[in-house]
Amino acid sequence: MDPFALFEKHINPGLAGLLRFTGLDRVESHAEGVYVWDTTGKRYLDFLGLYGTLNLGHRHPKVVEAVKRQLDRMPMSVRVLVSEPTARLAEKLAEITPEGLEMVFFGNSGAEAVEAAFKLARIYTGKPEVITTQGGFHGKTLGALSLTPKPEYQDPVRPLVPGVKVVPYGDARALEEAITSETAAVIVEPIQGEGGIRVPPEGYLREVRRITRERGVLMIADEVQTGLGRTGRLWGVDWEEVAPDLLTSAKALGGGVMPIGVAVGRREIFEVFKRNPLVHSSTFGGNPLAAAAALAAIQVTLEEDLPARALYMGRLLMEGLQALARAYPDLIQEVRGRGLMLGLEFVDADVGALCVAELAERGVLTAFGLNNPKVVRLEPPLIVEEEHINQALEALEGALQATRKAFEGILG
Ligand code: PMP
Repeated sequence: MDPFALFEKHINPGLAGLLRFTGLDRVESHAEGVYVWDTTGKRYLDFLGLYGTLNLGHRHPKVVEAVKRQLDRMPMSVRVLVSEPTARLAEKLAEITPEGLEMVFFGNSGAEAVEAAFKLARIYTGKPEVITTQGGFHGKTLGALSLTPKPEYQDPVRPLVPGVKVVPYGDARALEEAITSETAAVIVEPIQGEGGIRVPPEGYLREVRRITRERGVLMIADEVQTGLGRTGRLWGVDWEEVAPDLLTSAKALGGGVMPIGVAVGRREIFEVFKRNPLVHSSTFGGNPLAAAAALAAIQVTLEEDLPARALYMGRLLMEGLQALARAYPDLIQEVRGRGLMLGLEFVDADVGALCVAELAERGVLTAFGLNNPKVVRLEPPLIVEEEHINQALEALEGALQATRKAFEGILG
C-alpha cells in the first residue's frame, strides 16, 4: 500500500482528508535547504518550514555533521553519568538567552518545555494559578493544552488542569486585573504563531514584565516558535529588551534535524531541584544527539547572523505580500508579522484553503491554519535567498488569480 494510504488507514484519517482537499495527498521523498521533493519528483519551496522549525532549512550540513559525529561516539546518555554535549548546550543557552536565565531543563518538544515551565512555576512559588492569553498556543499535552484556550482541542478532553485563567492577548491591564495572591505565573508568546500571527501592541511585553515583577508573579515567555531568529531578533522578547523568568524554546533549536525542547530559567527557580532532584525529568530529555544538533544550530544561527537575515528577507517578503494584498483586496484582508514569521489573513477560510492548494500546485508549501483557518502562515527557512522569495511571490500571484477565478461571482 502506498504511504499516503497507510497514513490514512493507520495514522490520521481526518488529517489525510484535509491533505487531500489541499492537493497534498502526496509522499515526501527527500529535502535539501529550502527545497523538498515528493516521490513523483515534484519539487517544492518549503515556505512553512515545519511551523518555524526549519530555520536552517533541511539537512544543514553543519548540523548533520555534528549529529553524525555524536552518533559515532555516544548518541544516548546513560543518565547516571553527565553528558558533555548536554552540559555544553546548557552553558551556551545560559549565554545566549536574556539576562538572568542561567539554568536549563531538557525535554523533547515544545509541549514538554511548556509542561516543565508550568510545573517549575507551581513548585517554586507554591501557588496554583497560571494566566494565559486568548489565541495563545502552548502545546497539546494536558498541562500545555490547559494553557491553550482553543475549544476544539480542549473540550473533548475535559477536565483540564485546574487553575488556568485566560485574558485577552495584548492587553496588559486585563492581565494585571487577573492576578491574585494565588497566581504563580503568566505565560505569553512574544508574537502569537498558531493564533494567526498576532503581533501585540508595542510596549506590551515590557508592561507584562513590569506588572509581573511588581506583583511577584513569574513571567514565562513561550519562544517555541518565535525563538532563534525567526522574528528578526534572536528572541522575540529582544524586541522589547525584556528578560522573562522562564523561557521555552524548541522547534528550531534542534537545527531541523533533531527534536528538542528546553525551559531556561532563573537560578532561584531551579533551586527546587536541590530539594527534590527528580521532581521533573524525562528519559530522552537532554540526549546527546539532540544536544549536539542544538549546539551546531546555535553556532550557525550566530555565525551567519540569521536574525538579521530574517529581518532583511522578511521585509522583502512583507513588501511583496503587501503589494499582492493591495491587488487582491477581494481575497486578502490583512498581512501581518515580523521577520520571517508572516501571516496572510484571507477574507474567508475556504478562500485561504484554495489559495494554499493552488500554491502547492505551483510548488510552494505554506501552512493551512487549522488553528486559525483564515490565516495562511509563511515561515520559510531563515537561509532563504531573494530568488526564493521572488519565486514564492510569483507563485502566490498565480495562486491568487486562480483563487479569484474559482470564487468569481461568489465573493462580493
Ligand atoms: N508553544 C508554541 C508557541 C508553539 O508554537 C508550539 C507548537 N506550534 C508549541 C508550544 C508546542 O510545541 P510542540 O508541537 O513541539 O509540542
